Amino acid sequence: MNWTKNKHQFKVCYQPIVCLTTGQISGFEALLRWQHPTQGYVSPVDFIPIAEDTGLIVPLGNWVLQTAIHQMSIWQQNFPYQLQKAKIAINLSGKQLLQTNLIEQIENILQAAKLDSSYLKLEITESLLMENYDCAIFTLKKLSQLGVGLSIDDFGTGYSSLGRLQSLPVNSLKIDRCFIRQMDCSTEKSEIVRAIVTLAHSLKINVVVEGIETAKQLDLVRSLNCHQAQGFYFAKPQDHNAIVTLLTKKLPWIHHFSDVNGDITN
Ligand code: C2E
Ligand code: MG
Ligand code: MG
Repeated sequence: MNWTKNKHQFKVCYQPIVCLTTGQISGFEALLRWQHPTQGYVSPVDFIPIAEDTGLIVPLGNWVLQTAIHQMSIWQQNFPYQLQKAKIAINLSGKQLLQTNLIEQIENILQAAKLDSSYLKLEITESLLMENYDCAIFTLKKLSQLGVGLSIDDFGTGYSSLGRLQSLPVNSLKIDRCFIRQMDCSTEKSEIVRAIVTLAHSLKINVVVEGIETAKQLDLVRSLNCHQAQGFYFAKPQDHNAIVTLLTKKLPWIHHFSDVNGDITN
């Protein structure tokens, strides 16, 4: 595919990440969308691996970094109160992680967008991280020194060495949504989530849960002391305009947090 010619078929959507103590938005995950001219919507689950194989992921991933970082900078300027501590989380693929000029690229993009590095978090899947540990650790340490956060995505689906986990500059573990989906009916899954939270607490790492779809799941993860959550119960990934609308109104889920906020209006 000719990236420059077909760039218009892609867009970045954003899904809010919610603080489980206050109910406020603590960040957004940038998620890539591809609208193919004849096939319609193609899921990133299907096209990201192909983009990896063909090498397209490098310009594509760089464009996502540029677009989402720039977008976050604009939102920070326009909604400083709502987004005081909010970060933009961007998924990184294996090929991107192994690019020798990744750090320089990220520094340049942050500088051009005038966004402080502490507002950026990179998401790397557990399996990718463990497979590329020796090469990745140098880049990740450099990024951490720069102030960029690191999140381990789809945690629990791969195999993590605890020793390696401890030596990486990890800020968050994102528990995969397969655990959340089965939590309602499986105490075993809840116990796994509880164990991950305990591990994360002792390593002073934040826990983010993915895939919250019901109020019951929200109650459960709050009772397990998870820090942040993301899921269709709060909001689906949405384009820039929908996020602006969300930020200008009372958050639709905030009533669920009346135990800490009282009867507030956002
Ligand atoms: P991910 O990074 O784990 O992203 C979370 C996925 O879970 C997203 O799927 C999101 O739409 C979905 N999700 C969030 N909440 C819920 C929920 O409550 N229920 C359900 N059923 N799903 C929920 P999406 O957007 O289809 O992306 C799939 C994967 O594609 C991502 O998983 C990520 O690994 C990859 N991906 C997406 N955008 C990018 C990108 O810009 N770069 C790279 N390298 N990978 C990307
Ligand atoms: Mg992710
Ligand atoms: Mg994930």
